[in-house]
Amino acid sequence: MDEYIVSTSDLHKSYRDGASAVEVIRGVSFSLPARKLCALVGPSGSGKSTLLNLIAGLDTPERGSLTSCSRELSRLSSDELADYRLREIGIVFQFFNFLPTLSLLENVELPAKLAGTKQAPLRESAMSLLRRVGLEGKLSRLPRELSGGELQRGAIARALINSPKLLLADEPTGNLDRANGAQIISLCQELVSELGVSIFVVTHDNEVINAAERVLRIEDGKLLT
Ligand code: ADP
Repeated sequence: MDEYIVSTSDLHKSYRDGASAVEVIRGVSFSLPARKLCALVGPSGSGKSTLLNLIAGLDTPERGSLTSCSRELSRLSSDELADYRLREIGIVFQFFNFLPTLSLLENVELPAKLAGTKQAPLRESAMSLLRRVGLEGKLSRLPRELSGGELQRGAIARALINSPKLLLADEPTGNLDRANGAQIISLCQELVSELGVSIFVVTHDNEVINAAERVLRIEDGKLLT
């Protein structure tokens, strides 16, 4: 098994701002150990979401290499990249992104449907994940009938439905109170130790930072050593 889940070397990313280009990731090199909880911290606008999007294959760097889950992302065809996004990684957003008209169970099942999993095994894994995150009593609730903490645990279950190696999370405790935040942190620690998932979170939360095995600090598009 690979020692690192993500490795980057001299990564650069710019955005167009009118006529000029603004470099927001400015030569970033790091490796994340596999099967650990790692955190990315830094001030607003420092490039955290951009870096997460690059790892998620939602955006492409101009320069440098990025290997994730044993794949050099720049060498993947668009089909391979879509497959990487669907099966190798799971993403948890700060604002959950649930479909409002589907039940919790159906929302969790959706990425497995897209991956072509048959209905019976798909339902079984969705139920098992929802049990793991403590939501077995809320399967038929609509997203608007769930609390913030429940939605976030549901979002983690949904991100795990295709058994990804890497879970990427953008401020997963950002909208939660302390007790619900603590639940998310213990859940992440269980996923690492029991399922061997690698987790990389963008966070401002000191509790998450304290729980992380490795903390990367970014400022103005560069990592601090
Ligand atoms: P953080 O997540 O640390 O707050 P971001 O990665 O979102 O920072 O943004 C880094 C910089 O890149 C910011 O100055 C932001 O305005 C800029 N930026 C982010 N996304 C885009 C985009 N799609 N187009 C242009 N500029 C962007």
